[in-house]
Formats: sequence, C-alpha cells, structure tokens
Amino acid sequence: MHKELNVKEKLFMLGCCTDDRCIICDWEVETQTHLFFDCPYSKQVLQLLEKWCGFNIHVSMLGGLQPAKDCLKQQVHYLLWNALYYHIWAQRNAARIQFVLLRPQKLAGMIKEEIQFWFDLF
Ligand SMILES: [Zn+2]
Repeated sequence: MHKELNVKEKLFMLGCCTDDRCIICDWEVETQTHLFFDCPYSKQVLQLLEKWCGFNIHVSMLGGLQPAKDCLKQQVHYLLWNALYYHIWAQRNAARIQFVLLRPQKLAGMIKEEIQFWFDLF
C-alpha cells in the first residue's frame, strides 16, 4: 500500500532480475499499479468479486480507511479490498516461486469464502 513491495520494476532496476515483465500476465512492466489495478488477472478477480457483492470495489479503500462499524457495505468493501490485495500479492509470489497460479474464478471463490467466514464469526 505504500509502494514498498518488491515488484519486478524495482527488482530489475536494482539488477536483481533479468526483466521487468509482470510475472502473472507477462504483458506489461510489473509495477504495483499494474499488478493490483491493471493486470488482466487482477481485473478479472475484481470483476468476479464485484459481481458477487453487487457493488464496485473502489481503490479509495486503499488508503487504510476504517469502515463504519454500523455499515455492512463498508465493512464488506473494506474486507474485500484487503483480501484482494493480499491474495493478488500471494498469487504473484506463488507464480514467481512455485510456478503456479490459481484461476481467477478459484481465487475469487476463496476470497468470498473468507469474507463469509469472517462475518460468520461475528
Ligand atoms: Zn500483469
């Protein structure tokens, strides 16, 4: 969230990798913006989650805003955005280290289950 992730653009500039292409799509330079907002994989997961929850998941939640405790939509929005951010980064790292990548439908399903589980707890 603070542009401190070691995306390939940064690693390439430091001489730590041989190219700066996105590990997931291999189409664009892997910047933090590309990975979380512009990568076709991330966009597809986001679209699936938006279809599920029935509203747009806005980037404005990235600033770490806390949702109002009495607003279910804000809480879902907040949880979805944070889960999406975490899981896209985890998938990116799995693709880089283990050469595996979940299908967008599978990842969206996992995130939905996590959100539902969280609400079942409270
Ligand atoms: Zn990409």
